[in-house]
Amino acid sequence: MLPAERQRGAYLVTGDRHTEVVIVGGGQSGLAAGYHLRRLGVDFVILDAQPTPGGAWQHAWDSLHLFSPAAYSSLPGRPMPMQAGQAYPDARHVVGYLTDYERRYELPVHRPVRVLGVHRDDGRLRVETDAGSWRAQAAISATGAWWRPFLPAVPGREHFRGRQLHTVDYRNPADFAGQRVVVVGGGNSGAQIAADLAYDTDLTWVTQRPPRFLPDDIDGRALFDVATARRRALEEGRTDTGGVTSLGDIVAVPPVRKARDAGLLKASPMFVRLERDGVVWADGTRAPADAVIWCTGFRPALAHLAPLNLRGPRGHIPTDGTRARGERRLHLLGYGDWTGPASATLIGVGRPSRDAAGEIAHVLRS
Ligand code: FAD
Repeated sequence: MLPAERQRGAYLVTGDRHTEVVIVGGGQSGLAAGYHLRRLGVDFVILDAQPTPGGAWQHAWDSLHLFSPAAYSSLPGRPMPMQAGQAYPDARHVVGYLTDYERRYELPVHRPVRVLGVHRDDGRLRVETDAGSWRAQAAISATGAWWRPFLPAVPGREHFRGRQLHTVDYRNPADFAGQRVVVVGGGNSGAQIAADLAYDTDLTWVTQRPPRFLPDDIDGRALFDVATARRRALEEGRTDTGGVTSLGDIVAVPPVRKARDAGLLKASPMFVRLERDGVVWADGTRAPADAVIWCTGFRPALAHLAPLNLRGPRGHIPTDGTRARGERRLHLLGYGDWTGPASATLIGVGRPSRDAAGEIAHVLRS
């Protein structure tokens, strides 16, 4: 029997189990929260739907590298080691780092366990999973967004006969060699996947507005500094200095820079519809296509919180810091700036996870 199956079997028990805090999600955000709860002496479990450690990083396309050096990609307590020969570590390195992190701090991750719903129950939270239920005084939701790919409603999508994929399905250019590929999206995923495909395919890169590359000397380090400066300004009641998007949308990581400088990353405006064999622009121009890759982003994976009825505008859950406004026992971590500046990054989740753990420990002990 595989370890995961053995583990899973062990959870097939009847009746609720009890703990002080349930963390939903065992990616970097859940692990960072676990690190801080452990330091504060809080009893907790981490429930993670994946069979193996590493969260979304396990599913990244083959050539994905971080946009920050290792030293700027660390979770609390343990610096990410350098990756030999790589200024910017790849996704496999991140998976190795997260695997080591949860082992090193002996974080109680139960997997694969999928949380189906979080409910209010007699002054506590009841966390229903596909392997029984837990009762807890507080919960931290750290489920990321990779699991909810977003595809825009573009007319004719259902008529297109070629392949349609989202960022989450893309692996490498070998799958598309010699084909006519349309990549949709002017963010980092779109630019990186377009750069990946630029050499071996007949590429059309489509963006909603002209792509905005950040200056070449700006990488994740500077983005984190911008987010930190913004947080300080807002905390001190000064004028909003603007988030990272005030600088540009695309980090010019080396492969993107190389393809751009070779003239291979020219973007076209967004087409208005798909038809059987390709895409069509407003002026009637057509581009035949074998595949369309939608690099059109994600939505936060919050379905398990639906029973709490907390949804606010844009599908987010309104928070004060990390704490849900409508349910004081629930905190949200990762996801995006709305749960803390840069909280959806490796280095950025450190501070909000510390704050969330601190608030929870305070409430539990008071
Ligand atoms: P995830 O990694 O998605 O982990 C969430 C975990 O929760 C998963 O294991 C999932 O299976 C589990 N889960 C989900 N739903 C449930 C449920 N109902 N029950 C139980 N478990 C559940 N950040 C950087 O710092 N540097 C970068 O260079 C960088 N590059 C990025 C490139 C791309 C293409 C993307 C998409 C993101 C990038 N990020 C980067 C942002 C961020 O670091 C990652 O998105 C990261 O994976 C977020 O971690 P997380 O723990 O919040 O979520």
